[in-house]
Amino acid sequence: MAWYLAGYSEKGQTKRYSYGYRRFSLLGAFINAVVLIVGSLYILSEAIPRLLNPEHSSAPGMIVFALVGIAVNGVAALRLKNDQTMNAQVVACHLLEDVLGWVVVLVVGLTLVFVDIHVLDPILSILITLYVLYNVISKLKKTVELFLQATPTSIDLDAIVQKLEAVPGVKSSHHTHLWSLDGEHNVLSTHLVVDERTSREEVMRVKATSKATVNDLNLEHLTIEIEYGDKDCTLEHRGEAK
Ligand SMILES: [Zn+2]
Ligand SMILES: [Zn+2]
Ligand SMILES: [Zn+2]
Repeated sequence: MAWYLAGYSEKGQTKRYSYGYRRFSLLGAFINAVVLIVGSLYILSEAIPRLLNPEHSSAPGMIVFALVGIAVNGVAALRLKNDQTMNAQVVACHLLEDVLGWVVVLVVGLTLVFVDIHVLDPILSILITLYVLYNVISKLKKTVELFLQATPTSIDLDAIVQKLEAVPGVKSSHHTHLWSLDGEHNVLSTHLVVDERTSREEVMRVKATSKATVNDLNLEHLTIEIEYGDKDCTLEHRGEAK
């Protein structure tokens, strides 16, 4: 499901989805997180009673699962090693964490071959599930923030406003909004106020310099409104820093 939606996200723009389909990958991440949280809670509800009532667990079974887990995640991580994109790096990092998790399972499985400590199995399940839950919830938080059009945490909006206002010919700026379609591809809009007597050539220069200023933000959409003097704005400045 999440993969299907992530594949969709590369699709171009249509009339109905004029921003393109980038946010479908966000939707996929959201559904993924919900499924993982429900699954984790189910595992916890099974494992916690077993702490009090430990049963004999199958050491060979754990070892087989661990070896398969290490192989599958390890191969996937290696395949991503040469991909430098941000997303691939995050996924590779996550796969390596999974490999470490399986190594722990393997160690516990081998231990159980020699000493039969029944409580080890539920303790291990609970620790791994809590670790997964912690990661899923922090990722879910980021996804929800993106849906709510928060400024991405890696971006300093004040610094951008300062840089735009430093562009020669710009007197002030307002309504500077930066949000992200999917955490990677961003959208910026701003109003720049110039002097009422600014010539066409100067406006062109202001626009070009402003675009160059925000060039490093991986913008997929950029909207710059040029206003002549303070009274040109048709929008209210509701609680916004002018
Ligand atoms: Zn605004
Ligand atoms: Zn556009
Ligand atoms: Zn304005």
